[in-house]
Amino acid sequence: MIRLNEVKLPLDHDDDALRNFVLNKLSITTEQLVDIHIFKRGYDARKRNKITLIYTLDLTLDNIDEDQVLTRFEDDQLVRQSPDTTYKYVAQAPADLQERPIIIGIGPCGLFAGLILAQMGFNPIILERGKSVHERAKDTFRFWRKGELNTESNVQFGEGGAGTFSDGKLYSQVKDPNFLGLKVKQEFVIAGAPAEIIYVSKPHIGTFKLVTMVERMRRKIIELGGDIRFETRVEEINIVDNQVTGVTLRGGEIIDSKHVTLAIGHSARDTIQMLHDKGVYLEAQSFSVGFRIEHKQQLIDQARFGSNAGHPLLGAADYKLVHHCKSGRSVYSFCMCPGGVVVAATSEAEAVVTNGMSQYSRSERNANSAIVVGVSPSDFDNDPLQGIALQRKLERNAYILGGSTYQAPAQRVGDFLKGTESKPYGEVVPSYKPGVTMADLSTSLPDFAIEAIREALPAFNKKIPGFAHDDAMLTGVETRTSSPVQIKRNADYQSINTKGLYPAGEGAGYAGGILSAGIDGIKIAEAVALDMLKSQ
Ligand code: FAD
Repeated sequence: MIRLNEVKLPLDHDDDALRNFVLNKLSITTEQLVDIHIFKRGYDARKRNKITLIYTLDLTLDNIDEDQVLTRFEDDQLVRQSPDTTYKYVAQAPADLQERPIIIGIGPCGLFAGLILAQMGFNPIILERGKSVHERAKDTFRFWRKGELNTESNVQFGEGGAGTFSDGKLYSQVKDPNFLGLKVKQEFVIAGAPAEIIYVSKPHIGTFKLVTMVERMRRKIIELGGDIRFETRVEEINIVDNQVTGVTLRGGEIIDSKHVTLAIGHSARDTIQMLHDKGVYLEAQSFSVGFRIEHKQQLIDQARFGSNAGHPLLGAADYKLVHHCKSGRSVYSFCMCPGGVVVAATSEAEAVVTNGMSQYSRSERNANSAIVVGVSPSDFDNDPLQGIALQRKLERNAYILGGSTYQAPAQRVGDFLKGTESKPYGEVVPSYKPGVTMADLSTSLPDFAIEAIREALPAFNKKIPGFAHDDAMLTGVETRTSSPVQIKRNADYQSINTKGLYPAGEGAGYAGGILSAGIDGIKIAEAVALDMLKSQ
């Protein structure tokens, strides 16, 4: 196949435009062009009233020598042979394999580690502290409606992991030379995701679809010989002479294995403490703290797409903003959710944590995004566990500011910027459930973060007029943008001081988001499988 990159066409091009473009570009006949496969479709909205679509196409030709075509275009970087993107399994388990690999956690990382190991015949055992996704959804919605938190079954813990009640954005900046991201998306499509996630440049799934997809993928792992146990918290990793020998569960049961994947996410603070106590090497890592900001989605659509706002190929508009402050800190938008809601995302009692979620339609009236400031290990003496201590302190403080009922503290942007008393909300109605208490947010984060956000919001207003409007709404606090620790691993994906332990995904500091966590899960599955075959 031949790949054609950067094919630019107007937003409202007609049905034949792609075909005509290809025929002209390659100077071939209509009979020679058998098929056009869209590998990727993005858009350039820098000129908002003249938006262009940008395609990457894979072409199947007939009755023409592909090599000749490629030679004709050898000086044209945009015409190349299509790469082979098929996923190739690195191993197959022998029928008499005795040992079974253990995976702790079934977020996107554990899910893909488990799926790939099961597909290669390694019969993984997956242990998950939370409930199955259906039961977990009930607990999570009860918390949002009534403020009754289950600390083992919530937005962070349970089948599907942290991203289950989310916007389901599926893009990432990670380098992916082996197209593992494509394998992740293909498995999601088999499990029920819309087919477009394979080729649109910023795909998203939305929360309801994710719930059913996760259930289907669980069934597939079990059919292939894997076991998944819910409400099964790993209390201890068993280590003898720097080699993992298995895990001990809550209740005392021991499961032996010399291959244990740690896909625990960034909120399993008790498990991270246990690893530290056991001497597993971990380091402090930068993370960010801030607020969720809400605007009317209409404002963002207008600013980004102008007269094209509402176009079906564009959907609800997103944004990505960064401001470098005079102090040297940076403030940036994170996990932007167009047409979504702000959600209560704590896993600990008496704490308030914000995050964002949307449905596939992204049709809620508000846009929301985290606006956060980087915190580096030097802010907490490089002590690996002090980052967690800082997060916890801010989350508890927000709980008290919100009235100690799981309502979140919130403030209009105008009041926050002026440092004046909080007035009731105006035209932007805060979406956080179980509700907000209007409060003074200036005490909710360290001074350097408040100062940085106060400097950044007017700068963002220059990029998106109305961004710092008096009635835009801030809800606090956003503390769990990434893991405050990294559980260091070697080139063979094993902990640098504990053989057989595979730190993986976001909690270990090797992913940030659903797609990159899934990709990391595949890499870990491959490493575990190859090592198990070696030790046969
Ligand atoms: P997790 O998903 O956190 O999974 C870890 C799992 O391990 C959990 O299920 C937990 O219960 C389990 N576990 C922990 N400790 C133990 C133990 N001791 N024993 C047994 N089980 C244990 N990312 C995106 O890319 N796009 C988005 O739109 C998006 N939106 C988000 C919205 C929300 C509300 C949240 C909270 C996150 C969102 N994210 C999003 C981030 C994304 O969800 C995470 O990056 C991703 O889930 C990380 O995957 P993971 O598998 O590494 O960890």
